[in-house]
Amino acid sequence: MDPRDSLCLSNIDNLQDQVIVDRATIKDQKVTILGSQRSALGAAKLLSHFGAQILLSENSADQFSAEKRELLAEIKATFEFGYHSPDVLESDFIVVSPGIPENAEIMQKIREKGIPVYSEIEVSSWFIDTPIIAVTGSNGKTTTVNLIHHLLKTAGYNSFLGGNVGVAASEVLLESLGTKNPIYVLEVSSFQLDNIDSFKPQVAVILNLTPDHLDRYPNLNAYYESKMRLLKNLDSSTVAVINRDDAELLSRVVVGENFRFFAVDSLAGADAMVAEGVLGMMVEGIWSPILPAQALPLPGKHNLSNALAAVAAVMNFIPDTEMLARGLMTFSPVPHRIEYVGKVKDILCYNDSKATNIASTEVAIQSFNQPLWLILGGKDKGGDFTALIPQLEKSLREVLLVGSASEIIESQISSALAYKALGTIEKAIEYVLEHGEAGDVLLLSPACASFDQFNNYEARGDHFRTLIQAYEGWSM
Ligand code: ADP
Repeated sequence: MDPRDSLCLSNIDNLQDQVIVDRATIKDQKVTILGSQRSALGAAKLLSHFGAQILLSENSADQFSAEKRELLAEIKATFEFGYHSPDVLESDFIVVSPGIPENAEIMQKIREKGIPVYSEIEVSSWFIDTPIIAVTGSNGKTTTVNLIHHLLKTAGYNSFLGGNVGVAASEVLLESLGTKNPIYVLEVSSFQLDNIDSFKPQVAVILNLTPDHLDRYPNLNAYYESKMRLLKNLDSSTVAVINRDDAELLSRVVVGENFRFFAVDSLAGADAMVAEGVLGMMVEGIWSPILPAQALPLPGKHNLSNALAAVAAVMNFIPDTEMLARGLMTFSPVPHRIEYVGKVKDILCYNDSKATNIASTEVAIQSFNQPLWLILGGKDKGGDFTALIPQLEKSLREVLLVGSASEIIESQISSALAYKALGTIEKAIEYVLEHGEAGDVLLLSPACASFDQFNNYEARGDHFRTLIQAYEGWSM
């Protein structure tokens, strides 16, 4: 029998037990969805598809676009913006968007009334009875889910990619209805995990735990525990995939039989690893090489770790090492993650706009040996920029500060590193092209959110790429 059928079918039996709200009982339930962005609209569509009565309630007073209004009319959802009406507190349950913090006034009222609150990923999972591979962690989620999705597709699976990555899980689910044996690869953020209840992926991957989102969580422990909730409902029918190199993560798991480990450094006991330059996996105690690590089309040691996580996540689905090698080699890197955007005056330029925390900027720095110009800054998220000092001492030309976090960063690094506060990415590029030398690297890896000057990190990265590629003498 084709493993694509047998694996999926055996998993369906296990997963069906967990559906807590079945499709029939959703009908006519009164559901409020807080928020009006991607995952809120997806949840509205999904729940209305299964017969719920939807109120979409948005605190921001910005007018809804014609397109949004049209969609809501089509699914017969009521909506309000600029306030939350008392009707919210009459709901059977609430779906909360990831952007709404627990200390928002409306959340406190909902909690006082004891109305159940779920995240969109939780709600989507009620309607999924085929395998979910869910990935969380502080960094590497998008790269890893894209890679898992690509490996599954290459091996002929009917894989759907969604969650915190372009398309909401609920949208992906609607898209997949009626297709044969779908597998869902979902990127899951800590905010989505805060409000899960029965969410039980068949494969749960935690990539790493490093500081982030201190603007949302009271302390690091709260943020880390939120990530660990991915393992909350796992049992013997599921698999946890864990980074053996991450001491913080290891200290928080109680290892069971259904654990699988990946490691770049701590090889003993790993199931997916690199040995003597070859990336491979252990299958029933036997080493199965997949491909030379150098053949991986992704830069840096951190990406090796992501690739190993992906292999560990799919090894039951794809036992064939040649198939895995083909998938790994044909993967196209995701934009904005140490993306090479070309050279000007022989200065190599990289867009790592997705580096929105300190740890992701650290790994980007470690991926280069050349003299480095680093554009840092944006909207501060409460990180410790002094952690970058030891990484930068070896090969830094100058740090170029941009955005509203400039002063905070300056106060933390000024005694140790050469820097210039230049305000904008344009000015930083100009400065580097004036002072840089052939063979230098210019890296945009801001370690901050983008919202002070851009709508999102994509807009920031696109802006950087466009500026570089418009320079006279630019080439790839
Ligand atoms: P996420 O979806 O978790 O934000 P991405 O794959 O989008 O992860 O990568 C975000 C940033 O983190 C990029 O700047 C990338 O270079 C860096 N990064 C990717 N993988 C890792 C990893 N395993 N460890 C640390 N940083 C990473």
